[in-house]
Amino acid sequence: MNLRTIVGTFTLVGTVFALAVSAALIWLTTVMHHSTATIADAAQSVQLAESAQARLLLHRRARDPLLRQQATQALLQRLHEARAYVSSAEEARALREAEAAVEAMRSETVEFDAAETRAYAALGEVVAINIAQSRDASTQVSRMDELANVVGLGGGAAAFLIAVGLLWWMRTRAFEPVFALAKTMERFARGDTSARAPEVGPGELREMTRHFNEMASAIAAQRHAHTAFLGGVAHDLRGPLQALRLAAGVVEDVDPELAERIERPITRLERMVGDLLDAAKIEAGQLALRMETYDARAPLRTVSEIFEDSSPSHTLSFELPSEPLYVRCDPMRLEQTLTNLVSNALKYSPDGGSVSVSLARSGAEVVFQVRDEGIGISAGDQRRLFEPFQRVGLSKESIPGVGLGLFVVRQIVEAHGGRIEVSSAPGRGSTFRVALPALLDAPNDPARSPKEA
Ligand code: ADP
Repeated sequence: MNLRTIVGTFTLVGTVFALAVSAALIWLTTVMHHSTATIADAAQSVQLAESAQARLLLHRRARDPLLRQQATQALLQRLHEARAYVSSAEEARALREAEAAVEAMRSETVEFDAAETRAYAALGEVVAINIAQSRDASTQVSRMDELANVVGLGGGAAAFLIAVGLLWWMRTRAFEPVFALAKTMERFARGDTSARAPEVGPGELREMTRHFNEMASAIAAQRHAHTAFLGGVAHDLRGPLQALRLAAGVVEDVDPELAERIERPITRLERMVGDLLDAAKIEAGQLALRMETYDARAPLRTVSEIFEDSSPSHTLSFELPSEPLYVRCDPMRLEQTLTNLVSNALKYSPDGGSVSVSLARSGAEVVFQVRDEGIGISAGDQRRLFEPFQRVGLSKESIPGVGLGLFVVRQIVEAHGGRIEVSSAPGRGSTFRVALPALLDAPNDPARSPKEA
């Protein structure tokens, strides 16, 4: 079922239900109003009839014909007023009978006492009829009251159930696929190109998810082809680069300074070509690790040797623990990771400054930290830093690179079961942290761990 139909059905059911409840309540209040009006009329009728009966008694006692005349007049006046409150044919008949009897009392021809008795009885009947009417009305009011309670409580309970049903449906059927899609998008944006959202839920959401999945597959395929192509190019570049390196070696004997000037860009090119080849391997799922138990200080010593005297404008410092810190890793890949981070720290501090590298144990992890005082990275850029071909900030125009180093680094670190984080701010430098699971016990076979330098 699709979202539009379901929301439309819920809205229709809710509206019909609300209309039915309000119609029932309007009907109930109308009936109750009618009943209370009947009770009020009956009370008026009873009062008028009883006052007429009192007048009759006065009439009986009056001996003076004038007083009698007046009493009869007042009596007729009451009966006339009582007509306004008549609410049944029976009451109208009893009232007419009382009026006829009072009229007869005025006539000379009819026997006076009998007419008076008839009038008294008719008035008594009016009282009795009105009392019965008000009792019926009051019974009806009680019934309506009970009905109003049932409608109110039943309506409330039904509205509650509809609301709970709607919430449950929204949570499990409508929102769940949206949350799953949002999570998948986030994973995809973070570089997991295999992330796909489950195509479940209402029609429109299923369609949206399908479109996203198709788009994700297309992007992944495109990236795959892109990286594979560049990997091929990089592969072909390796030969000429080796030749260049050999030539630089020959020049070194003649002119060491020129050789150094040639070797520096060759090293940079080799690193770029290496990154391209690694990225192609990663995309093809062929990044193989040769895991060993290794002292984490060793690759840092190698990195320190590589970058020693590499940049006169930078101060490079290494802080290593005195005791070995063992990890399970591919030593070459770990060295490559740290070389990449230190190389970036130097490259993205074009004005020089200090680059400090440290290694320490933190809980169950071994943490490498590379800190620089360079150009820094904005919070927005930090999110896409580890994506392939992402070069961020203004540096991309002025500092050479292909934007693959950190992508490769993250893949290597994650393949080791570790994680990489960055904290940085523009103009304030950056700190990259690589955390790998520590080996809690020292290795049994010390021969497999490298000698301390
Ligand atoms: P490359 O250096 O070849 O461009 P990377 O993947 O190593 O590629 O880095 C990606 C981007 O991250 C760089 O282009 C740069 O904008 C930014 N970056 C990496 N390291 C740093 C750093 N230490 N300081 C500032 N920016 C950095």
